[in-house]
Amino acid sequence: MYVVFLGAPGAGKGTQAAVVAKKLNLAHIATGDLFRQAIEKGTALGTQAKSYMEKGMLVPDKITIQMVLDRLLAPDCVAGVILDGFPRNLEQAKALDEALVTRNKTIDKVVYIKVSEQELLKRLGGRWICRSCQAPYHATDSPPRVWGKCDKCGGELYQRADDTAETVKKRLEVYFAQTAPLIDYYTKVGKLAEVEGEGGIEAVSTRIVSALKGKLKAR
Ligand code: AMP
Repeated sequence: MYVVFLGAPGAGKGTQAAVVAKKLNLAHIATGDLFRQAIEKGTALGTQAKSYMEKGMLVPDKITIQMVLDRLLAPDCVAGVILDGFPRNLEQAKALDEALVTRNKTIDKVVYIKVSEQELLKRLGGRWICRSCQAPYHATDSPPRVWGKCDKCGGELYQRADDTAETVKKRLEVYFAQTAPLIDYYTKVGKLAEVEGEGGIEAVSTRIVSALKGKLKAR
């Protein structure tokens, strides 16, 4: 099963993709995480992506599409995948569709996680991430047990460089201009499932799993 998680920055795509991937035994591919790991490692890909990410802009399609298509060939993707943060514009969506056709695969469902703009700003402002396992926390809504340390792996928590007020504003602009049109694109082909993204993590993941249920039975 190939699933895309769509939503604005701060909608909870990463949190939910991690939870749902575990529940349904799917691989979780987060393009933002792949870029951040490349930056940490100092690879050529990281160097190319860094300047765009710092400005809240999309990394060029050519680089991003190739990275995802390569990642989809890894053995852990055989049973199915949740794509988190990709595609992010129409060019990427079309490139993904075309590549999947050649691989005899298709996107089964696109989960659009809907959250109000007010809630997005609140979430992004208080977001902390584990440097080792990328687990997300929120300063007030889901703080770690020990401040600054990840509950899951003990890793150090940090605030993303692109979660500053100015970059968040740019990322939201980019989302509304380039990514939101994908809601229409996937609605037209009957693949979109809209899920209310406000509420607790467990409540939202239950909604997502039930939105995917028809597809699960058909597997
Ligand atoms: P995220 O962790 O999904 O919020 O992504 C962080 C940043 O990585 C974005 O603001 C972009 O600069 C870059 N990025 C992630 N996914 C993509 C994508 N599909 N296309 C282009 N840039 C991306």
